[in-house]
Amino acid sequence: MSGRDEEEVQAVPTATASSNADATEDEVPRPASRTTVPSGGIIVRDSVKPSRGATPPVQGNRAKRLRHAPLADAALPTAAAETNGGRAGIPAGKEAEEGGGGAAGGVAGGGGGGGGGRTQKRTDYLVWDDYFMSVAFLSAMRSKDPSTQVGACIVNEDKRIVGIGYNGFPMGCSDDDLPWARQADDELDTKYPYVCHAEMNAILNKNSADVKGCLIYVALFPCNECAKLIIQSGIREVVYLSDKYRETNSMKASRRLFDLSGVKCRQHIPKQDKITIDFSSTRR
Ligand SMILES: [Zn+2]
Repeated sequence: MSGRDEEEVQAVPTATASSNADATEDEVPRPASRTTVPSGGIIVRDSVKPSRGATPPVQGNRAKRLRHAPLADAALPTAAAETNGGRAGIPAGKEAEEGGGGAAGGVAGGGGGGGGGRTQKRTDYLVWDDYFMSVAFLSAMRSKDPSTQVGACIVNEDKRIVGIGYNGFPMGCSDDDLPWARQADDELDTKYPYVCHAEMNAILNKNSADVKGCLIYVALFPCNECAKLIIQSGIREVVYLSDKYRETNSMKASRRLFDLSGVKCRQHIPKQDKITIDFSSTRR
């Protein structure tokens, strides 16, 4: 029940990301898993772009400082921003420390302070939940699955990303040698027996000793097979965007397993519907 039902459920309108052109190359580094990009996928809008604090072209070091300010703030919410940061589900105590932590972004903290307080910090930076969910969506864009792209992002209690994955075939199994079909006379001619879901890949791709106590961000509520992996790996919370297939047996089983095992499930409501990444902004 986990296979087909759930997979079809995840089919999303926007799937464009998969091009077979780079199929082979892609699968190598990391096994992927199911990725679903609900509506419209992600368009990440330049978080690098100077916002209101940074006025257009100014000359000299001062200008450079201004340009960096937005980035630093985006990665390291300050006390005032903690309200948003807290939505990531990190214990309050941890959040208080994070200011100097340089979470996932790895950007130096407080870098924008050179202006002596006259420059206001950005207020439209990504909040943690939107940020991590965006990473999951971005990862989903790596999927070659023509019908369903799903990404997952695992974050530890220090708000550091420790695993990312998207749906795809196992390492070494060429996308060109296995079927992507959702339906066929013979089940072996469909993708279901072969594809690895995003959650599985994110867990297996972890760059930490384990993922105990972590949160996993996924676009869709996990299928029952992934629920088992999530529970067994020690992940304590699932943050999902859509639960539209909650009536399927797979999702019902997942919920049952999560309930019994005490894994918290939380639906994320994005603070903004669309995020755009504009590479050209750095050339201006
Ligand atoms: Zn799954």
